[in-house]
Amino acid sequence: MSCDYISLAAPGVQHLNPYLPGKPAEELEREMGLTGIVKLASNENPLGPSPKALAAMQQNMTGLALYPDSGGYRLKKAIAEHYALAMEQVTLGNGSNDVLELLARAFLTADDEVIYSEYAFVVYPLVTQAVGAKAVVTAANAWGHDLNAMREAISDKTKMIFIANPNNPTGTWLSETELSAFLDAVPEHVLVVLDEAYTEYVRQEGFPNGLELLTRFPNLIVTRTFSKAFGLAGLRVGFAVSNPQIANILSRVRQPFNVSSLALCAAEAALSDWEYLEKTIATNTAGMAYFEQALSELGIEFIPSVGNFITIDLGRDAMPVYQAMLAQGVIVRPLANYGMPNHLRISIGTASENEKCLDVLASVVENLE
Ligand SMILES: *Cc1c(COP(=O)(O)O)cnc(C)c1O
Repeated sequence: MSCDYISLAAPGVQHLNPYLPGKPAEELEREMGLTGIVKLASNENPLGPSPKALAAMQQNMTGLALYPDSGGYRLKKAIAEHYALAMEQVTLGNGSNDVLELLARAFLTADDEVIYSEYAFVVYPLVTQAVGAKAVVTAANAWGHDLNAMREAISDKTKMIFIANPNNPTGTWLSETELSAFLDAVPEHVLVVLDEAYTEYVRQEGFPNGLELLTRFPNLIVTRTFSKAFGLAGLRVGFAVSNPQIANILSRVRQPFNVSSLALCAAEAALSDWEYLEKTIATNTAGMAYFEQALSELGIEFIPSVGNFITIDLGRDAMPVYQAMLAQGVIVRPLANYGMPNHLRISIGTASENEKCLDVLASVVENLE
């Protein structure tokens, strides 16, 4: 090849490091010939999809020869009713990752600055860099967002701010008081993207519901997903809620059929399956308590988390621990790409998955010492 095709790519894309997913169980099975693998690496719902979502998909299979409803009327209507919103506020995405990218593509240029925190969800740097905007990364405070630092980082060029509440991969959270005070201080022309991927899990007093802040803050965009508590990560469906003008702009850049017909009907059904959601939250609350107790007994430090995952601090390079756990059939998530080389993130699973993970972690840590 006489041409360097890498150098032909858009400047932001040339230096982009692609997203590092959790290792798929099937891959580990192939590589090591293991069975009964426990994957607690991608914050998926350990209960599988909601039975109502499964039934809805089965019913809609015969329609697969047709394109999906591009406007997503039924799902948007269900979301609007469920959360007391107007349909015009809702933008559907192929996962919430899709709407995060739509926001970047629709609003950011190379002249704009984007603020996000150290240790925040890795998709924010990815979408910022891909469109060539300038990232302004603020230092974290106790692994969480430092809203004072973020406010001070706002300049004439700031166009967008990303906040995850709770944050992934740290599980830290911002209170209603902190978040409202921050939003009060942000100029109206600066867009604040509030990523609430894990909001359904949070039981803390004083935890904000971003959707309730939308009427006060027209520059706020809240993103939600069906991938976590609703158990549909494999289908790829999420949404943004914003003022109708922002939704209008997003609809101009999205692919006409960005959400599949099965995803549309499954998400609609999952939304009404409160029994499944309750079970999901109870499983997570019990699993989280189990991990906190067991980790304390083992003397392993962790960052207190309100999500469906817990991030542990091994006080040493975590990669050998990750590898040794893999060899015993347990997949967790290394966080070196987040600048957290001593940490591992563990998703909360079923009781038996949690026990296996803890047993393996305990034996690995013991053998290292
Ligand atoms: C998992 C996750 C998402 C959801 O991604 P989808 O594309 O909806 O599957 C969004 N934000 C954060 C912080 C996440 O951890």
